[in-house]
This record gives sequence, C-alpha cells and structure tokens, in this order.
Amino acid sequence: MSLKPNQLSRVAVVGSGLSGTSFLSGLVGWLHRDQRRDIEIHVFETSDEFGPGIYKTSLPETCFLNHENNSMGWVAPNDPDAGPDHYFKYLEINAERLAEEHECLDISVLKDPSGYTPRFVYGKYLKEQFDQIERLAKSENLPFFKHRVKVEKIKILGKQASITWKENDQLKKQDGFNIIIITNGHCWDHPLLKDTKNTSNFFPVYPIKRLMDRDAIAGKRVVVIGTGLSGIDAVFTAIRSGAEQVILTSRSGRMRSVRAPFAKYYRKFFTRDAVNQIVEERGKITLSQVTDLFLREYTAALEAYRAYQQDPEQFKDDAWSSYIGQKFYVPDEHPNLNDLIFPDDPVVRLRDDVREAESCPPDKGLIWRSIAKSMYDIEKGLEFFDYVYQQLSVEDKIVFMKKMYRLQLNFTAAMPLPSAKRLLALHQQGKLVVRKGFESISNDSNSGLLRVEMNDGTSVYADIGVDATGYSKDMTHDPLYRHLMAEGECVAHPAGGIAIDPITHALLTDDGLSSVLIAIGPATIGSTYVLKPDSIGNSESALRIAKQVYTVLTEREAVEPSAKLEDSLVNV
Ligand SMILES: Cc1cc2nc3c(=O)[nH]c(=O)nc-3n(C[C@H](O)[C@H](O)[C@H](O)COP(=O)(O)OP(=O)(O)OC[C@H]3O[C@@H](n4cnc5c(N)ncnc54)[C@H](O)[C@@H]3O)c2cc1C
Repeated sequence: MSLKPNQLSRVAVVGSGLSGTSFLSGLVGWLHRDQRRDIEIHVFETSDEFGPGIYKTSLPETCFLNHENNSMGWVAPNDPDAGPDHYFKYLEINAERLAEEHECLDISVLKDPSGYTPRFVYGKYLKEQFDQIERLAKSENLPFFKHRVKVEKIKILGKQASITWKENDQLKKQDGFNIIIITNGHCWDHPLLKDTKNTSNFFPVYPIKRLMDRDAIAGKRVVVIGTGLSGIDAVFTAIRSGAEQVILTSRSGRMRSVRAPFAKYYRKFFTRDAVNQIVEERGKITLSQVTDLFLREYTAALEAYRAYQQDPEQFKDDAWSSYIGQKFYVPDEHPNLNDLIFPDDPVVRLRDDVREAESCPPDKGLIWRSIAKSMYDIEKGLEFFDYVYQQLSVEDKIVFMKKMYRLQLNFTAAMPLPSAKRLLALHQQGKLVVRKGFESISNDSNSGLLRVEMNDGTSVYADIGVDATGYSKDMTHDPLYRHLMAEGECVAHPAGGIAIDPITHALLTDDGLSSVLIAIGPATIGSTYVLKPDSIGNSESALRIAKQVYTVLTEREAVEPSAKLEDSLVNV
C-alpha cells in the first residue's frame, strides 16, 4: 500500500446492512481505542435506513428470524457484552419499550432466549447499533460521512478507486478511496421473473410491501414459488392480508427441517485430524471421502447408542459412549439420514419433524441432528466445515455447494417450531396447499390468471404469483460486480459468488488479488461457503476484516493472503 505516514486514508463501505455495520463497528471501535483520526470513512446506503439491511424495520410481524434470540448478536467489538447473545441482552433491556411501540409483539417471546422474534425487531437493533457507531464517530471528531445513494459503479484507478452514483439525475463521483468494502448483500435478480410478461400479478417476495397490501391480496388465490424461508414469509404475509388460499410450491417441495433440541456432540471420526491425515497421505481430500467420514461418525454414534441402551453397564468406563447415552435421544422408528431429511411428501415431513421436535426431551438432542449440528454449528462446527471445504478441489467445491448447501441450511437456517406449527394449522384449515414438482409459470390468456405447470402434467391457477426462489449466486446478475467483472477487476468463483481470498477477503482480479477491493457477505459464498449464510458468520468475518484494514492503513503492514486460492482457481 503506497501511503505516506500521517496521510489521511479513505475507506468506503458500500451497503450498511449487518456486514457493513459490523465492519464499521470494528473500524470505528479501533480508531476510538487508539485515538486516531487519520482514516476518513464514507458509508453508502441505497435504502432509507442505515443498519438493518435485509432486516428492514418496515417488515411485517409475519417475517421471523430463523435463529433463536440468544444466537443473533455479535456486533460491537468495543462492547464487553458482545457475542452471540448480544441481541438477547438488547431485548431484555428493551422488551417493554418495544412491546409498547408495537402491539403485535408478544413480550414473553422477546424475553425468551430461545424465542424467535420478527425480523423487524432485529432491524431496529441493527439500526441502533449503527446509530451508536455514528455517535461515537461524531463525538470523537472522526471524519465519518453517510451518503444515502445507490452506488452505480466502482472504478479502479491504480492503487485507488472511485465510486459513482446518481443524484437528481446527475452522475456524482468520489475519488481517491484506498479501500472499498463491498457489503451490498444478496443479489436478487432472478430469471424466473423474466418468463412472465405481466408483472402486475407476479412479483418477487421482497420487498414484501405488495403482499402487505390488503386491497390487492384479500380473497385472492396466491401461488408462492419457493419453499424456503422466504416462501414461508410470503405464506404468512399473504394470509395476514386475507388471501383465500396459498399454494406453496417448488421443484422438490422440500421445506427446511424444523429446529429441534440438539445436544453437544463431540465428533470422534470426522475430525480435523482425520481430514489432515488424508490430505497429508494423498495430497487432497475428495468429496466422497468427506461424506464417508460423516457417515462413519453417524453410524458409530448410532451403534454406540443402541449398545448403550441394551447394556449401560458395559460402557460405564467409556466416557464417550456414556455421554451419548445420557445426552441423546433416538426415536423408535429411525429412518436413514437421507429419508429423514428429505422424505417424499413435504407435509408428512413437516408433521414428522414437528412431532420429533416436540417429543424430544429438552435436555437431549436427536442424534442425527446433534452430529450434523456439531458440523454446522455456528461456533465450532462451522469453522471446521469451512476448513474442510477449503481443502476440496474446485470441482468438488462445485458439487459440494450443490449437494451440501441445502443440507447445511437445514441446520443453520432451520424452520422455527412455531412457524412449522402455524403452517400445519393453515394446511389443516385448507388455507395452505403444498405441492412439489413445479415446472414453470406463465399468464393464461383465456382466464387472465397465472398458470403453474407441474411436472405430473397438472396445472394450478392463481390470481397472484410470488417468486420466493431466493437470491442468485451468479454475481453477473449484480450490477456492481457485473461492471467490475467486465473491467477484469473481479472474477466469478466457479462454485458461486465472486472469488475472494478467504483470509483477507480481497477480490481476485485478472491480475491477482486486488489491493483496493474487499467483499464481505453473501456475494462471497463460493469462496468462503459455510460462514456466509448466517448473520453471525458475516459479522464475525466483518470484524476480522475491519481489524486487518485498520492494521494495513495505520501500520502500513500487509496481511498475507492465503496462497492456495489462486492455485486452485487457475485449474478450472
Ligand atoms: C430473507 C432472508 C432472511 C434471513 N434471515 C436470517 C436469520 O434469521 N438469521 C440469520 O442469521 N441470517 C439470516 N439471513 C441471512 C442474511 O443474509 C445475513 O444474515 C445478513 O443479513 C447479510 O448481511 P449483509 O449486510 O451482508 O447484507 P444485507 O443485509 O442484504 O445488506 C446489504 C445492504 O447494502 C445495501 N445496498 C445494496 N446495493 C447497494 C448499492 N449499490 N449502493 C448502496 N447500498 C447498497 C442494501 O440496501 C442493504 O442495506 C437471511 C437472509 C435472507 C435473504
């Protein structure tokens, strides 16, 4: 980095959602700690709120967080209370005020560490975090600037970059940024929308305002395409607006697993040592070896549990097996893992899942969930799985992303039990139909309705269609990245998202790693995989990167990227 000592350096943050706010929290926190004022910070945000990002404070109370209150925290590095339960601590202090401000909020849910709050409450929390950061910056006279604009273009000029946006139909530009942090969130553009010409009755789930419009929705049949959590948001919101019936559909019809108790499980076979041993012996690990290790763990745990059930005495000196016996619960009818996770009929699966989640003793965990959780767990397991992912070849990463990503989402972004019960109740009342086998959607010129073709040859008709098929992992759909790609300043990762160095988060360009551009958040999914889908993962990365940026700009020290990245991508 070619900066003279004491020269003011400039940092831009594009997008102030959870990732951008966490980054700012780190950077401003360290500047404050060291009493430095030599970094000028510019924050660009297109929406009318700084802080909430995807958790807009205008969301209806029908859109819930998919994590418990005590695991959604983390921002605020200079706050000794920061950590996964930071949000819950905020709720404990503010529950009465929030419930007074919003009639729809149930105070007992706000005060329950394992409750699920509507997402808008988390948005308020993030907004307040952002405001605190801004106040701290102002009180310290830090050069901190907010721009409520949509960044249209980032252009690299040697070791610096410029940012362009439109204001009152005029193009405006700021030059001379030493580092730009791109935290612009998800890329929503989706090809499904382009198939339908009449978009007045077919629209994407977010922003959810159109589904909140009672006049437009009441008495209508609504088809929701996409059975993930956004689809569930659409179902509840359409029903709230008086929809006569909602048809929820997707190709597989699979809904997320229901969150259930899980006990801590200590992996014995699928461990870092086992992975390292294979990598050392064979130079790499393949996807099938990873799967074998997982299945070995699962089988061994199940066998140990069964043996323990039959003769607990035999295991009294074996800490691991007796631990299994005490902590785990296996239902009598225990199907194999795949059937358990993806059985044929979506509603049967939902019902089974709810039954299991409710019957599982609260101090115990279903054995398969516990093993899976130990791999995907937001604290230790995620880090481990990310580590495994980084050992795979790019070809295996592509397959892994296709096959394992969904499975992983089942645990990291599982369906809250209250949501699952609400869905079942709607199904029982005939308000909700769940169909698998979605093929296509089009306008039916005869009836003026939307026609959804299913793969069994049947059709479903609806007045309103909602695209809840999720965000795109193809960053050529994102205007900012598309432009950077055209200029050779960024390349796509073959497994999805853009290619970044997993350590420094610097963008990979046609000529090596960028010294100016850093990305954090959903766009980095193929490069960092497991850490990305969750708030806490993004927040953790953002804080780490803030420390790096602070070090680079104040001490002029380079942070070494991981050498593996470029080698592995070159071969694709
Ligand atoms: C529907 C949904 C629900 C989710 N629920 C949960 C959950 O319950 N728990 C959980 O842990 N994770 C959840 N996630 C995962 C979530 O994506 C991440 O947790 C996290 O919010 C990502 O934060 P971010 O700041 O990277 O992106 P975002 O929150 O999307 O923020 C990006 C910001 O950038 C701004 N922006 C975009 N483009 C520009 C531009 N050109 N110029 C200026 N500003 C721009 C946007 O307005 C936005 O404010 C959910 C994801 C989705 C899609």
